[in-house]
Amino acid sequence: MHTSKRIAVVGGGPAGAFAAAELARFGRKVVLFDEKLAWEKPCGGGLTDKAIAHWPFLREAQAERNWISHCQLIAPSGRKVSFPLDRQIAIFSRKVLNGLLIEKARQAGTQVCQERVIGIERTTAGWSLRTTSKSYGSDFVVLATGARNSFGKQFSRRLGPENFMMAAGYYIPGTHQTVQIKFLKDLHGYIWVFPRADHFSVGICGRMQGMNTASLRRILHDSVAEFGLTLNGAKFYAHIIPSLTVNALQRPFSGDGWAMIGDAAGFVDAITGEGIYYSLRSAEQLANALQQNAPEKYPGFVREDFLPELEHASRIAGRFYAGDWMGDAVIERMVQLTARSTRFRELMRDLFAGTQEYSDLRERVYRNLPRIAAEAVVSTVWSPPSDVRSRAAVGQQ
Ligand SMILES: Cc1cc2nc3c(=O)[nH]c(=O)nc-3n(C[C@H](O)[C@H](O)[C@H](O)COP(=O)(O)OP(=O)(O)OC[C@H]3O[C@@H](n4cnc5c(N)ncnc54)[C@H](O)[C@@H]3O)c2cc1C
Repeated sequence: MHTSKRIAVVGGGPAGAFAAAELARFGRKVVLFDEKLAWEKPCGGGLTDKAIAHWPFLREAQAERNWISHCQLIAPSGRKVSFPLDRQIAIFSRKVLNGLLIEKARQAGTQVCQERVIGIERTTAGWSLRTTSKSYGSDFVVLATGARNSFGKQFSRRLGPENFMMAAGYYIPGTHQTVQIKFLKDLHGYIWVFPRADHFSVGICGRMQGMNTASLRRILHDSVAEFGLTLNGAKFYAHIIPSLTVNALQRPFSGDGWAMIGDAAGFVDAITGEGIYYSLRSAEQLANALQQNAPEKYPGFVREDFLPELEHASRIAGRFYAGDWMGDAVIERMVQLTARSTRFRELMRDLFAGTQEYSDLRERVYRNLPRIAAEAVVSTVWSPPSDVRSRAAVGQQ
């Protein structure tokens, strides 16, 4: 049995701040390091109903956020569908969300240090963490340093570029209540418009042959007007999103006296880029293992919980973005069926709520296919939805 009396958490994003809050609540002596503390980390800031339901403080906290009840999807052909969500999505500014979680950690008894950790070395007594101003000792180190995890190579296998999506975007003044997602031909990713309390996070993420952040930014520029937005007063951001291969998801994310959580461990959905839920969940799982004085249980907890879902996402991401289904691109079919079939729309609502897992998605689609197909045929013949532009209308074959 391993008792970690002093725990150092490096990184105060959702993963690190929540781990610190939980560990301090369990009576551990916790020091949390973040060079910026609460800051506007490049992000959409979207949290599904699954996350909100699991951590009610996210709903109850007196914090500014926008509750979203509509979604619009745009396929590469220009085909569109808008539909109401039955469970709202919360969109936070990351400065607000990080601030909320860091405050939670502080109130639970965490010592919060606004410092950058520049070195971590093993000592006979545990670990020594060096910051720009001094050194700290600890028995256990939690690495919650995000996607640009500077300690990744020291503690585990290096991740190659195939394990990341690029992302670029703008914060634009204004807001409304609809999330918009636009897919583009040959882009393994998408453009999003996420309305927050008083501004939009509008961005593009993905992988594209021969593309870099500058080319993604150009594509985004060309698309902004389509959403009725301008870049006047907009603030640019760019970052990377972990999008691990199945093989990379098998690499060690904990060991003797240390563990990685959140983006530092690569816990992000390879299709959607959703990572906040997995940051909070991995923080919770690690805190549970440490509370039992059994840090070695952490990988098992993660494997029993969400890792299979992330592996599944990684396995099917290529097919989702570039594959065909029933004679058309998967995304075209998805948008078309969302417009034409009530049963398919229910499935999409569950995906947006975070309650439809990838592991039984295929089975659910095929079980419901006769009904979905019948609804699609009836809808096409009798009442073409007004918000769906046909391929012909946008000049496609
Ligand atoms: C453009 C974009 C859009 C996204 N949109 C969404 C979305 O809408 N919904 C969603 O669920 N996910 C989204 N994600 C993913 C989400 O942002 C991440 O999964 C989430 O922030 C991970 O949290 P984290 O705490 O692991 O890491 P981070 O939030 O990156 O936090 C890491 C922290 O560590 C600190 N740090 C790093 N190194 C050191 C050091 N050496 N010393 C001290 N401090 C250090 C940093 O300052 C930072 O505060 C998006 C990502 C991007 C890039």
